[in-house]
Amino acid sequence: MTAEDADFTQPVYHESDVDRRYVDDKTVAVLGYGSQGHAHAQNLDDSGVDVIVGLRKDSSSRSAAKADGLRVETPKQAAREADIVSVLVPDTVQPSLFETIEPELDAGDTLQFAHGFNIHYGQVEPPEDVDVTMIAPKSPGHLVRRNYEAGQGTPALLAVYQNATGDAQQEALAYADGIGCARAGVVETTFREETETDLFGEQAVLCGGVTSLVKTGYETLVDAGYSPEMAYFECLNELKLIVDLMYEGGNSEMWDSVSDTAEFGGLTRGDEIVDEHVRENMEEALEEVQNGEFAREWIAENQAGRPSYRQRRQAEQNHEIEEVGERLRDLFAWADDDADVEQAEVSADD
Ligand code: NDP
Ligand code: MG
Repeated sequence: MTAEDADFTQPVYHESDVDRRYVDDKTVAVLGYGSQGHAHAQNLDDSGVDVIVGLRKDSSSRSAAKADGLRVETPKQAAREADIVSVLVPDTVQPSLFETIEPELDAGDTLQFAHGFNIHYGQVEPPEDVDVTMIAPKSPGHLVRRNYEAGQGTPALLAVYQNATGDAQQEALAYADGIGCARAGVVETTFREETETDLFGEQAVLCGGVTSLVKTGYETLVDAGYSPEMAYFECLNELKLIVDLMYEGGNSEMWDSVSDTAEFGGLTRGDEIVDEHVRENMEEALEEVQNGEFAREWIAENQAGRPSYRQRRQAEQNHEIEEVGERLRDLFAWADDDADVEQAEVSADD
């Protein structure tokens, strides 16, 4: 297989690198019919690959999969018939589901994932004679489906954990092509890198970091006597406008678009606020991801019935900013209308 794109630090594959024969004569079991599952199953099916959806007997997703014209079996039966078993149930469910399907894996079969957590942290230990691969689309499933139908693709990550047959990488790439991702580009990584960067990113920046930054900014203004409404607008609502610019053209486009005053204030104060102390906290969070401490905590939390998760979730929902936001968002009814239109498009696609 050739990989070009010398400008990237890691190989990036495109349709011209794909040999579809690696999946064309195979049967793929897609376990789960949620966000990723419905998209992988329908895209592979439309690409001419033989697909069986694996769902438990009482699954609420069964009718949807059948309505989409797909064959549905139990996960065990689907895995028995399949050459490639794509594990697309929630990460916390995968270890127990794996126990059910493990006896159905023949030598030379493939276990395929969309996230590396369970393999990387040893929660799923596949037999040595199967290939273990990952194709992780970099978007929610409904976009993977929508882009495919529009003749476009969603970029994806590719990783090989175990290459029993010698063909693991080519097969994974053919799978990525079957769900449309090779149209956009498939970036090579490892299970370790995907898992650790994914966990770190959502903790430090995307989910944990950004909500804490927003809440702290909001509280600082309100504690100083400013109105909650103003604090909400400045610290939460306008975030979308800023992030949209960053998404479009990086930080530079954002800096170019805001006022000179905003740019000067941001450039002089930003690094003082998110300072070396925050960097140290981030390094600590990364270390807990790397040494498995976070994974052990999350696994134990699930085994205990998620007490801390529930409590923290409740506290977040009770934060004053949520209540202020609910009132203020009514003023943005037009934005809701846009969202409704978008949502309707998604539902029509799904
Ligand atoms: P979902 O939460 O959408 O999966 C739900 C599906 O799993 C449903 O069909 C559900 O069926 C089934 N399911 C749940 N519990 C069980 C069970 N015990 N036995 C059998 N089936 C079960 O998952 P996602 O698509 O979000 O995630 C799947 C994988 O993709 C994960 O590894 C995730 O990390 C990864 N990923 C997800 C992305 C996303 O945007 N969501 C992006 C990239 C990767 P039922 O009706 O039976 O409950
Ligand atoms: Mg099999």
